[in-house]
Amino acid sequence: RAKSLGKARTCAFDRFLDQQQRTRRRLEEELRGAVEAGELFLLYQPIVEPVSGNPLGYEALLRWRHPTYGTLSPVVFIEAAEESGSIVEIGRWVLEEACRHAASWDHPLFVAVNVSARQLSGADLVDHVTTALKTSGLPADRLELEVTETSLLADRTDIARCLEALTRIGAKLVMDDYGSGYSSISNLRRYPFTKMKIDRGYVATLEDDPVAEVVIDSALALGKSLGITVVIKGIETENQRSRLTEKAPDQMQGFLFGTPVAMGRQTSSSQAGRRDPEVPR
Ligand code: C2E
Ligand code: MG
Ligand code: MG
Repeated sequence: RAKSLGKARTCAFDRFLDQQQRTRRRLEEELRGAVEAGELFLLYQPIVEPVSGNPLGYEALLRWRHPTYGTLSPVVFIEAAEESGSIVEIGRWVLEEACRHAASWDHPLFVAVNVSARQLSGADLVDHVTTALKTSGLPADRLELEVTETSLLADRTDIARCLEALTRIGAKLVMDDYGSGYSSISNLRRYPFTKMKIDRGYVATLEDDPVAEVVIDSALALGKSLGITVVIKGIETENQRSRLTEKAPDQMQGFLFGTPVAMGRQTSSSQAGRRDPEVPR
């Protein structure tokens, strides 16, 4: 009896896994067509000077206007895009679109583009960045490439070569989600980063976890001694802002300063933050 019950459970679980796999495959297939169908678009979130709150640049954040599910965040589909390989095509589109947009802004602020692990180990990224800069006319030093810390875990020479080539072109490298991995400090020394963004989790737990403040303080000290710009992101409240501004970070980002908004060719950067606000999650 126990045995047959176990078998029934296994069957039900298999069906559940099957279902999940089918959903995943359908998502991957739809994603492959999404660029061509014009279903992808970019929103921009300001990165500001902490005291004045004035924008210094904007981070491009990808969205997928899915025909049936509505607007999706990359949290839902980036992993599928990485595994199916379509992230390379999508990443190329993001780079071209973001550089084109930034080149049309009224003020020469920087644009930050997120780059995934799969793009870093492929051979095409340097080409794609070069082309995006050339076709848009955006000066290379206005482009920042954000690399999530956890995608650097493996010590790989192809990644090192790629990051060094990007620096030679003149783009800036940003370590995103500092403190989310295990080798933050060695990665900061190993690769030519000029900026780091502290993982949002530390700001979120600032009020009830004393260790969070220790991590933020040490990141700021490390940035100062290595000559690396430090960004505190995930600022949602005035309390977080005032408490953290005292620590004199170089830059801040978060819903308090501005949620991700559309900022296409016609939109002047001075109007950003007031257009098409996205409901904070
Ligand atoms: P990220 O690079 O850490 O980007 C910041 C994320 O935190 C964004 O979510 C942003 O909307 C959200 N955020 C900003 N301020 C706050 C805040 O004050 N509080 C809270 N709770 N959240 C805040 P989003 O747009 O859903 O993007 C999620 C992740 O997807 C990004 O995390 C990035 O790793 C990835 N991503 C976004 N766009 C791209 C892209 O074009 N290519 C690649 N490869 N990855 C992307
Ligand atoms: Mg980022
Ligand atoms: Mg993140």
